[in-house]
Amino acid sequence: MEQFDVVVIGAGAAGLFCAAQAGQAGLRVMVLDNGKKPGRKILMSGGGRCNFTNLYIEPAAYLSSNPHFCKSALARYTQWDFIDMVSRHGIAWHEKTLGQLFCDDSAEQIVTMLMDECQQGNVTLRLRSEVLTIERNEQGYTLQLNGAEIHANKLVIASGGLSMPGLGASPFGYKVAEQFGLPVLPTRAGLVPFTLHKPLLEQLQTLSGVSLPAIVTAQDGTQFRENILFTHRGMSGPAVLQISSYWRAGEPVVVNLAPDGGVDALLDEQRQAHPNQSLKNTLALLLPKRLIEVLMSLGFVPDVTLKQLNARQQADLVARLSQWEVVPNGTEGYRTAEVTLGGVDTHALSSRTMEARTVPGLYFIGEVVDVTGWLGGYNFQWAWSSAWACAQALAS
Ligand code: FAD
Repeated sequence: MEQFDVVVIGAGAAGLFCAAQAGQAGLRVMVLDNGKKPGRKILMSGGGRCNFTNLYIEPAAYLSSNPHFCKSALARYTQWDFIDMVSRHGIAWHEKTLGQLFCDDSAEQIVTMLMDECQQGNVTLRLRSEVLTIERNEQGYTLQLNGAEIHANKLVIASGGLSMPGLGASPFGYKVAEQFGLPVLPTRAGLVPFTLHKPLLEQLQTLSGVSLPAIVTAQDGTQFRENILFTHRGMSGPAVLQISSYWRAGEPVVVNLAPDGGVDALLDEQRQAHPNQSLKNTLALLLPKRLIEVLMSLGFVPDVTLKQLNARQQADLVARLSQWEVVPNGTEGYRTAEVTLGGVDTHALSSRTMEARTVPGLYFIGEVVDVTGWLGGYNFQWAWSSAWACAQALAS
């Protein structure tokens, strides 16, 4: 039976980084994965350029039933630490928007960097591996794999969430938590497009592909100002993906289609200059024409000239544009979600080491834990920071 100091399950962002750090600290480490290659989500991420961190990482950008849990790891291994590593490996990067850092060339560079780091730590990588059973005894953990039995003094679960089953996602980590009596909070898809009910979807059908800046607000008051995108199934775009993590089934979201305000001022000014201009053409100065057609069919925009538009109609119009209440039918689910909300309850883990409080030698890192970041590099930073905190503990 092969013996390791540490076995890491999941060769994704968190698992590879943790394995590399632990290996470089002198530990004998194996990382294993059910897939054919490591870092599959990294390769897909950021449109193939991997949005590997964000300049504005802060705990407030993470959702968790325990909002304090992420603070320690994020403060001890920061975005600047990871940026240093990326730069040391000669990977060129740029800020796209809102502090989001992407590789100039390819996400593959991040996987190569992590693999190089693993090699420096003499990490053994075992792909296409299923863990059939895990048993714990005084010496540590015995894992029955398809075709082998291995022993680990310590076990790190970095198997991620349920998003994108096509990329190897599985409930494995939650099952391990349950096996060892740790609570797992209900999971749901996050950073995911909304689907819409049929009547509204049909009314919006001609908008598929239209994108515009908006402010989208969830019932709890959380709001994001970014683009929304109408799709043939419903609504997407960064503002919608962000708010989806704060949305609960049945709740409305409020969409402000005029995030800069100024609709009243525009209408008053245009009325003075062009009283016979149609309201529709005037609004085209602010909004995409296709959207205005749809808003007319929804009864938000009356078919009148500016001269004909009375004060009450104008007030109604401004209110409707700035507070369009949409009740999503649901989300596209794990199939297209970027992340999984919920997961291993942080109350059962040490925020300093990621070790299970009641199960010595068992650690959970990355997305399998109930810590979920915003869109924009926040989730990878959680993977790096939690992995680093865990590796420090393994090595100490
Ligand atoms: P993962 O990276 O998912 O790794 C888990 C690994 O465990 C996988 O390799 C999986 O194959 C393996 N595994 C699962 N079950 C088993 C099992 N039973 N046995 C063995 N191995 C198993 N975040 C950002 O910050 N920036 C982005 O640009 C970004 N883009 C994304 C794009 C897409 C399409 C998706 C789906 C997600 C994106 N994310 C992004 C989110 C980010 O990818 C995840 O939050 C991050 O990968 C989580 O890291 P992890 O190591 O915890 O899990």
